[in-house]
Amino acid sequence: MGMEVGLLTVDTPGQRVLMMGNVAIARGALEAGVQVATSYPGTPSSEIIGSLCQVARQAGIYVEWSTNEMVAFEVAFAASLAGVRSIVACKHLGMNWIADPFLVSAYTGVNGGLIIVVADDPHPYSSQNAEDTRYYAKLAKVPCLEPSDVQEAKDVMALAFELSETLQLPVMVRITPRIAHTRGIVVLGSISRLRRKANFEKDSTRYVMISSNARNRHAWLNKQYARAAELAETFQLNRLKLAPGATVGVIGCGLSYGYVREALHLLGAENQVSILKLATVNPLPTQLVCKLLSSVTTVLIVEEIDPVIETDIRSLAQGLGLNLEIRGRLTNDLPRELELTPDIVTAALARIFGASYDSNAASNYVISEINNLVTRRTPFLCAGCPHRASYYAIKQALKKVNRGGIVTGDRGCYNQGIHPPLKAIDTCICMGASIAMACGFSKVGIEEPIVAVIGDSTFFHAGIPALINAVYNHAKVTVVILDNGWTAMTGHQPNPATGITAMGDPTKMLKPEELAMACGVDHVKVVDPYNVKATIDSIVEAINHPEPSVVVCRHICTLQELRTMKLMGIKPAPYSVNLDECTSCKLCLFQLGCPAMAAENGKVKIDTYTCVGCGVCAQVCPVEAIRRGS
Ligand code: SF4
Ligand code: SF4
Repeated sequence: MGMEVGLLTVDTPGQRVLMMGNVAIARGALEAGVQVATSYPGTPSSEIIGSLCQVARQAGIYVEWSTNEMVAFEVAFAASLAGVRSIVACKHLGMNWIADPFLVSAYTGVNGGLIIVVADDPHPYSSQNAEDTRYYAKLAKVPCLEPSDVQEAKDVMALAFELSETLQLPVMVRITPRIAHTRGIVVLGSISRLRRKANFEKDSTRYVMISSNARNRHAWLNKQYARAAELAETFQLNRLKLAPGATVGVIGCGLSYGYVREALHLLGAENQVSILKLATVNPLPTQLVCKLLSSVTTVLIVEEIDPVIETDIRSLAQGLGLNLEIRGRLTNDLPRELELTPDIVTAALARIFGASYDSNAASNYVISEINNLVTRRTPFLCAGCPHRASYYAIKQALKKVNRGGIVTGDRGCYNQGIHPPLKAIDTCICMGASIAMACGFSKVGIEEPIVAVIGDSTFFHAGIPALINAVYNHAKVTVVILDNGWTAMTGHQPNPATGITAMGDPTKMLKPEELAMACGVDHVKVVDPYNVKATIDSIVEAINHPEPSVVVCRHICTLQELRTMKLMGIKPAPYSVNLDECTSCKLCLFQLGCPAMAAENGKVKIDTYTCVGCGVCAQVCPVEAIRRGS
């Protein structure tokens, strides 16, 4: 992303550059005069705010990593009410957090344009589900726009801000990883230097959303939503191309439009099909859609994740008495799960045309080529990762206590503790669920120790209310906070434990142990997980405590530690196995499983290039066969 970030602020309109979709969105926001940008990191959306952080001062805008998505939304929303253009970016799961204020913001309306860029994960590649966030736009009755390529990802931002200000409604821009992380050619526009002076004009009938005001604003929202549907008819990124004599039509929503074009090209059917390229996925431009529907006998609807548009179009066609075949995900012409590909869309269109197309042949070829080039790997915790040491300690502590144990996990890179040999967590649902679920298990008569595992960033995001709940309700749980000082999973964004802000300013470094004590936890310990015995002992002690207890396992993320060491000219000092002393018990491999270690000729060997010298394996080896140096 480094070089691309440099392109964010160059003012060379017309220049063609190669850009990642997320960076193009950031650029589009700057061209549109954004003044406030907020987010909580979440793959695949993180680079939008991540890139804006790096140019914030130069661009004269305010950017923050907020403690969670709801906070991010509320910060941007207030800025919008004060008249300045604001964006909040999140992944689809962040939308669940934003939902509460987002739905009310449609009632209050906005002043400066307010854009929520939300990145859905259809596959899903890095998420616990594949929800379709367009439902939120329908629920809130706000416009939702979908760009079809990287150029449009930039261009849609200015249009979205204009639409937001015209309607006084927040606007959603929905993308998927194929836009977020794809690089494409982008023609730059000019950067807006216009900076509005913030001014909040009080109006309690709008901004104090008590029920009497909500009743009035509901009618206002319905009016604005109807206006949004009118504007969708002429929205410039929608395009209808009617092919003379065509009986088949295709509606391609957002990125799917690119798949449709590729499929038609492969089938040589470009001129046999009428196409509606749809960017306004909510509300629908019904007249435009009807023009297509009434000109064909079959229509295929191509959209990512759920048949949202397809369902709307079925109802529209039925209401208008149109007699045509509507195909898509509901008719199993397209699969109900996983991400679409050009191949899948080509196969669906081929079936409609009665043409032969072996989609498996194409994908099998690609898969076999990839298999030849790339070694399959299970995601794992890095060599020397402090989380591995913490998980090892939790498992050993539970063994010592000898009463079984349930470990509730949370969202972060420490999810990788699920893989062998650690297999350290029993649940992982959503941000903050570890502590609350631990409370739940503790209240139903389970007599095993209940241990919740949560990272520092997730603790700030969603763990604190659940910890207060544990204290308030006398839940007998042990919370292990894995504090590595960064939001590591999404690319090492700073968080309240890091000591710097998104814009690089020094700030107060919040300590999870102090917050735990402030929440009323009496038993709080801080340990370095690289000290294996101390960590095991602290967890045993915490498990034996009769009330909620907290152990903070603090060690900076290994990758960040290595970066700092590199800057200081310090090289890691790797460990090695003394083969004469090694008894081949393989405890180090099967109980710790650092990726720097491997079995070779019945013995264990440490790869000195991968080993970071944490020394944890040396503490695990029962015969002290592992030592620093060769
Ligand atoms: S734990 Fe020690 S003795 Fe056992 S295999 Fe590993 S290095 Fe060898
Ligand atoms: S010292 Fe041991 S546990 Fe640490 S990185 Fe090296 S091999 Fe892995």
